[in-house]
Amino acid sequence: MPALSVLSVAAELFPLVKTGGLADVTGALPPALKAERIRMVTLVPGYPGVLSALTDAEVVADVGALAGGPARLIAGRAGHVDLFVLDAPHYFNRPGNPYQGPDGRPYDDNPMRFAALARVAAAIGHGLVADFQPDVVHSHDWHAGLTPAFLHFADAPRPATVMTVHNLAFQGQYPADLFPALGLPPHAFSIHGVEYYGMVGFLKAGLSLADRITTVSPTYAQEIRSGAAGMGLEGLFRARSDVLTGILNGIDTDVWNPATDPSLDKAFDRRRLPARVHNRKALRDRLGLDHDQHAPVFGIISRLTWQKGMDVVLEAIGDVVRLGAQVAVLGAGDRSLEDGFRWAAGAFAGRLGVVIGYDEDLAHQIQAGSDALLVPSRFEPCGLTQLCALRYGAVPVAARVGGLADTIIDANEMALSAGVGTGILFGQVARDPFIGAVQRTLAAFRDADTWKKLQRNGMATDVSWAGPARHYAALYREVVATRGA
Ligand code: ADP
Repeated sequence: MPALSVLSVAAELFPLVKTGGLADVTGALPPALKAERIRMVTLVPGYPGVLSALTDAEVVADVGALAGGPARLIAGRAGHVDLFVLDAPHYFNRPGNPYQGPDGRPYDDNPMRFAALARVAAAIGHGLVADFQPDVVHSHDWHAGLTPAFLHFADAPRPATVMTVHNLAFQGQYPADLFPALGLPPHAFSIHGVEYYGMVGFLKAGLSLADRITTVSPTYAQEIRSGAAGMGLEGLFRARSDVLTGILNGIDTDVWNPATDPSLDKAFDRRRLPARVHNRKALRDRLGLDHDQHAPVFGIISRLTWQKGMDVVLEAIGDVVRLGAQVAVLGAGDRSLEDGFRWAAGAFAGRLGVVIGYDEDLAHQIQAGSDALLVPSRFEPCGLTQLCALRYGAVPVAARVGGLADTIIDANEMALSAGVGTGILFGQVARDPFIGAVQRTLAAFRDADTWKKLQRNGMATDVSWAGPARHYAALYREVVATRGA
């Protein structure tokens, strides 16, 4: 098995900069690929949090000409991950969110910021760094979407390219008058290049021009070929279905390990399930929930958005608590949903606890202290919270879409008699089906043996990166071999 070098290009990387699942993936994949003899170096923007975390930093190139202002490419490490950092202060020396200002509005120069990232990525692909010639350049989401375009339209030999889409809701579309500033040749503005309905499409460009496309679950890879899930790109996905595959995400099983998790009140594992009770008690204390031994706690750790079905939860919350459940919510997102949950926490005090904000520790505590985790997403490319829930013995209750359908085995009668169920899946994301799923969950919870079995099955599920890393390694090898043939 020959060693391969891969350049990963992304706007987020756990734990340095994270707004969602993308960061978890780009942070966890490089160490997991080592076992597959893949050396991955990740190119990220030089946000303050990235630069300050960098060790063994060394300037490897002046990239001012590529980045539209004084800029350096720095090589270094953060934890177990090798990095290239695009230190372009005029674009990235901004505190806080990587994409938007304190007013919550995307930065006006986002297209130029991420075009610069892609230009530098392509330059590395073309041999900018003497001792790192990637065999594959792997771009993530629209921020890195122009990378395959810069590689494709350059008049030079290039490495193989892979484009991964984590969330199609964000496509990076900008007015066509931006095009001349990108530095691509005029013929790149075509239906087979970066043009998208008369605009410039960053993600569309990557999806059109990369040698291989992946998304983060097999079911989502099917869903996006048609209808609403394709979000306007379904025709492109259909046209390129021969190079489109779905590879599930894993989670970092060191960070998410209930036996060693420093955020928990009490460690536990599959054989020490009763210890979860301490974590539930602590969670109730933290969120002001009543100590009602008969009520299961349903956790939610989510962006508070329509995609995540949080409007449906809010609509149904009165029924859910009246049915006998408690709900622990951690999330941030749409202002109206945040306000709605705050209001509901007052209306259902003792039965509903709500924390608005982003809190890693509390996320771990909810996974460890909840009996079930609610994930009623309208679409879900892969989803990570249900994987963490499986590992922590919180039974996932989820919509049957995308990666949720691929990672949870519904505890129907057949699955239960075969001893393989791990959660509760439901169809339509609307009030009644959602309440139906809550009722099924409550019935299962009240049958202690069934519940324990669900928890144990979930905890025995392999949610690590080992399997996904094997799939990515196979894909890299395949695309390199095919291009070389
Ligand atoms: P997304 O669509 O938001 O990327 P995922 O389920 O793929 O959804 O990943 C979400 C990740 O972010 C998970 O690791 C989850 O634990 C974490 N997360 C989401 N909201 C919060 C929050 N408010 N506080 C802490 N962690 C959160």
